Amino acid sequence: MGKIIFNGKIVDRSEVSIDIEDRGYQFGDGVYEVIRVYNGKLFTKIEHVNRLYESAEKVAITIPYEKAELVQTLEELVAINNLVTGIIYLQLTRGNFPRQHGFPSSDVPPTYVAYTREMPIPQASLDKGVRGLLIEDIRWLRCDIKSLNLLGNILAKQKAAEAGCYEAIQHRGEEITEGSSSNVFIVKGNCLMTHPATNLILNGITRRVILKICKENDITYKEEVFTVNDLMNANEVFVSSTTSEVMPVVQVNDKIIASGTPGPITRKLQQFFKQEIENLG
Ligand code: PMP
Repeated sequence: MGKIIFNGKIVDRSEVSIDIEDRGYQFGDGVYEVIRVYNGKLFTKIEHVNRLYESAEKVAITIPYEKAELVQTLEELVAINNLVTGIIYLQLTRGNFPRQHGFPSSDVPPTYVAYTREMPIPQASLDKGVRGLLIEDIRWLRCDIKSLNLLGNILAKQKAAEAGCYEAIQHRGEEITEGSSSNVFIVKGNCLMTHPATNLILNGITRRVILKICKENDITYKEEVFTVNDLMNANEVFVSSTTSEVMPVVQVNDKIIASGTPGPITRKLQQFFKQEIENLG
């Protein structure tokens, strides 16, 4: 894992240092992605790279690389680092500039860093399910941007961890938005529900794969707002993310969800999701 990408080139990690006036370091002024690697291959790479460019565009950062070139270098990095099961983390910041809130002059190039990390599939939790903690969503109103500014998410995740929970399930008033680093789904009756892809959530790539699976397999779903009460009385709850896949939630606060074990629709989606991974080769 000794090699990383720095401004488009694969170099030794020890050769790289980040300037103290990097906008990412000073303001969290940048965007990022996390891509899953299964069997040495990048899962849903096009979707992640497209979202990276979309996030960058939303905050007026121009990425000075072609998408195909960026993907190719990521694939080279995975091969050089012999990564089999893990993740690629990549981030672009607005570059180095003497500190001021306004943007640097337009000739300042972004700082681009990517590295790989081994990360096993969290199989025991996927089998058994995890606990969630309800937390008021205190974040800003552009959660659709995958921005480096994650203080709200971090504080929520830490509270969940301190309560012995895997994930913080956030709500704005009565409305469930998303997890601190995941999207939230419930099964109400026979219908899967998840928050619509508005400015209040990140439109997760895993979320999109799940909805595609539903469409292809006649699993009824609605992208509709649901409430804290709906969640607490749901037949099934799960969260989804690149690292957590389809993760059953069997308890929220003190409330056991349904029977306290992963439900049938969650299980079915886990199986279909595994198939998507296997289709990667
Ligand atoms: N919402 C938030 C706030 C996240 O941080 C993540 C994880 N990146 C997700 C949702 C899930 O997105 P994805 O499925 O693309 O990992």
